[in-house]
Amino acid sequence: MSKKSAIVIGAGIVGLATARALAIKGYAVKIIERNFKATGASIRNFGMIWPIGQPAGKQYERSIKSRDIWKVIGNSSKLWYDPVGSLHLAYHDDEWKVLQELFEIFKKEGRDVQLLNKEALLKKSAIAKEKNCVGGLYSNEEIIVDPREAISILPVYFQEKLNIHFIWGKTVTAVRSGQIAIGSEIIRCDQVFICSGSDFETLYPEEYAKFPLTKCKLQMMRLVEAGLSRIGPALCGGLSLIHYASFKAAPSLHLLKKRYEEDMSEFLNLGIHVMVSQNQTGQLTVGDSHEYGLSPDPFDRSHINNMILEYLQEFTSLNRPELIESWNGVYGKLTNGQPDLFSSPEPDVFIVNAVGGAGMTVSFGLTEELINTL
Ligand SMILES: Cc1cc2nc3c(=O)[nH]c(=O)nc-3n(C[C@H](O)[C@H](O)[C@H](O)COP(=O)(O)OP(=O)(O)OC[C@H]3O[C@@H](n4cnc5c(N)ncnc54)[C@H](O)[C@@H]3O)c2cc1C
Repeated sequence: MSKKSAIVIGAGIVGLATARALAIKGYAVKIIERNFKATGASIRNFGMIWPIGQPAGKQYERSIKSRDIWKVIGNSSKLWYDPVGSLHLAYHDDEWKVLQELFEIFKKEGRDVQLLNKEALLKKSAIAKEKNCVGGLYSNEEIIVDPREAISILPVYFQEKLNIHFIWGKTVTAVRSGQIAIGSEIIRCDQVFICSGSDFETLYPEEYAKFPLTKCKLQMMRLVEAGLSRIGPALCGGLSLIHYASFKAAPSLHLLKKRYEEDMSEFLNLGIHVMVSQNQTGQLTVGDSHEYGLSPDPFDRSHINNMILEYLQEFTSLNRPELIESWNGVYGKLTNGQPDLFSSPEPDVFIVNAVGGAGMTVSFGLTEELINTL
């Protein structure tokens, strides 16, 4: 019996993970990517594989599964990853209270977390700021990849190990059951998977219109500091506590949020919370802001970057790092709280999208699950 064939549209992390899951299931898989290399959200992120941000249950399980798949790939290829974990820092008593509550909750959930006092924390992190530091929540479960490297190594790896065929530099202009079109060229297959990231406009716009979707634009920076060695865990300041769904479990979070609303409304209006990851060359990726709307403008605003850098000084001892790059990225997201969009606009055509700010963290686990349910 000949293999079932599938075409995956888009070579971002969702497309790559979908193709991997299909190939493992025994499909003959082609990925079609409109650019000569993927340049969407998947190369613009921190490279944080981030279970700590995922709520208990399905999303957390997907993140752990994905994290383990990243490690397996890293251990059998040139893909760099750093199992440094994450460290959320407290500089105020209300932040410390939330971290203490989260520690108890996460411990019960079986997560690999530790509550660190100031001394232990400063031993763990080379750049956490000492002044006013109260303590931190360390989690041993997060890993960092370099998204630019990862999104170019994965296609080579999947082609070699799973025989996935890549077609670069071609835009899929139409899809029907059993076929896709690249202009006048038709390619036939048994199933089509549309993983087109924040492009909701080209393929099945009427299907996307049925869902409460938005786009989120984030500003990011790359910094270097002379003489900086490995920083240790990826770092987050207090504002991140009101960003991730998993932290909503803390009973006193609403009080912290109230204080931020009163004292830092400008940061909240721009969705700014600040995180730092370090790549294999020692450079720091720092961000970000969150601006929502279906037509994000293309402009990076220096006042947003300045606010991010200002907040970075609140919890790191970095000493005038040099800004070497800034950029923005856009991802799609559902506004009804659902973590992803999986829909079938017609038989054997599937849309996998809107994984929000967690695509690097959940895609491998999510897509294995979806493909297994077909
Ligand atoms: C700044 C930023 C920071 C982030 N940080 C993190 C993080 O640290 N950890 C984490 O887990 N997540 C993070 N995220 C979220 C994560 O990056 C996204 O969830 C994920 O990259 C989405 O992947 P995707 O494959 O859906 O989209 P994309 O990466 O945008 O890929 C979609 C691809 O489809 C192609 N395409 C579209 N239409 C067509 C067509 N018609 N024909 C052919 N090709 C087409 C596009 O060219 C593109 O390459 C971040 C996102 C941003 C923007």
